[in-house]
Amino acid sequence: MAIKIFIDQGHNPKNPNSGAEGNGFQEADLVYRIGIILRDMLNKNPEYEAITSRNSPDEILGTSNSTSLAARVNAANQWEADYFISLHANASANSSATGSEAFVFSQTSKASPLAESILKWLQYIVGTKSRGVFSRPGLYVLRRTQMPATLVELGFITNAEEARNMNENPGDYALGIYDGIINYFGTT
Ligand SMILES: [Zn+2]
Repeated sequence: MAIKIFIDQGHNPKNPNSGAEGNGFQEADLVYRIGIILRDMLNKNPEYEAITSRNSPDEILGTSNSTSLAARVNAANQWEADYFISLHANASANSSATGSEAFVFSQTSKASPLAESILKWLQYIVGTKSRGVFSRPGLYVLRRTQMPATLVELGFITNAEEARNMNENPGDYALGIYDGIINYFGTT
């Protein structure tokens, strides 16, 4: 049985739930493309089966912020995903803030070592430093998913270099996440 990975590109291209903007880029666009590449990488590996929450760059999920989040969680629950990974880009008032970080419902979740592996491999492949894995039980997509779930902030859209890198090299980010997944599961 293939391991079912639900990839949520965490925002819509416009409101509701449009996400951050920075350096001329939109979070929704950056994570959309990385998510599609990651999905295709996983689906080429017989050990995995992957789907994304958004399947076209223009797709809008939900009619409000809360129904947008619920649509993502409901899709993963209905599909009976084994793991849920929500992709985001971080934002800070400090434009020099850099690095990737991840959130889990609790440090005892199976998603916690998965998130650690993803951050480690993002660091290897992309060069982005890991800021760590943190508990954030209040986050809807971590609280309401029925499977281990992590929300990964891939880099800062408010940092010029990281924003440009996410835009120009989405395949590197996808490969970092992919390598983090296959090393966590011990597959090849
Ligand atoms: Zn976000």
